[in-house]
Amino acid sequence: MTYTISSLSSTDLSTSDNAIAILNLNHYYGHGSLRKQVLTDINLQIQRGEIVLLTGPSGSGKTTLLTLIGGLRSVQSGSLKILGDELLNANREQLTLTRRRIGYIFQAHNLLNFLTVYQNVEMALEIQHVSALEANTRITDILTAVGLAERLHYYPEALSGGQKQRVAIARALVSQPQIILADEPTAALDKKSGRDVVEILEKLAKEQGCTILIVTHDNRILDLADRIITMEDGHLVDS
Ligand code: ADP
Ligand code: MG
Repeated sequence: MTYTISSLSSTDLSTSDNAIAILNLNHYYGHGSLRKQVLTDINLQIQRGEIVLLTGPSGSGKTTLLTLIGGLRSVQSGSLKILGDELLNANREQLTLTRRRIGYIFQAHNLLNFLTVYQNVEMALEIQHVSALEANTRITDILTAVGLAERLHYYPEALSGGQKQRVAIARALVSQPQIILADEPTAALDKKSGRDVVEILEKLAKEQGCTILIVTHDNRILDLADRIITMEDGHLVDS
């Protein structure tokens, strides 16, 4: 479907500019006397196509926020809109639909060791309605783009850390998600491969018009962001 600008009201336009819109979000772990607040009054808007880095000390709530945004954890209070859809009180089907529009990259690349590079990426396409021919083209293209054209049929154990993380990037991008969420994607990598991995991720995501949110401690990649936000003790602080 194609829209013309005139078919959208101004309010539609302003809301559709945000890939992620968070209002007064709070989150707690535990119950009763063990209940502990880990996110306090989070307000955050991330525009479509924006590349944002989220930093802050260990235990400050970054991963919790990322998993909430990713629909991997239920929103308890406040509003969290992903690509215009509210996740507060969303049912399972709605969450599943949202998750399909997101690509995830974690610190431990989570590749399956009994599958080849090609098959690991193929898995991410299996739930999408893509023909076998189209799937083959997309998988080969994305693995070529991350520099692994020569490694399609290798098993993960034969790859370096940086190569494995590049497979993880290919796997996250192959379904052409509108948002990429990455949790410390360079943590296990040396300086050079860490930067390479994020540069590749950015270049490809820009080509797809993708929004990226990366949690990182890695000050070697801070210059790659459009915006840097910082979390301390469950609060977003002005940086
Ligand atoms: P970060 O990613 O910034 O290190 P987390 O979001 O992982 O922070 O954790 C924030 C706080 O919540 C920490 O105090 C952590 O111990 C606690 N926490 C994280 N996950 C859970 C959980 N599943 N159950 C209980 N407490 C948790
Ligand atoms: Mg974390």
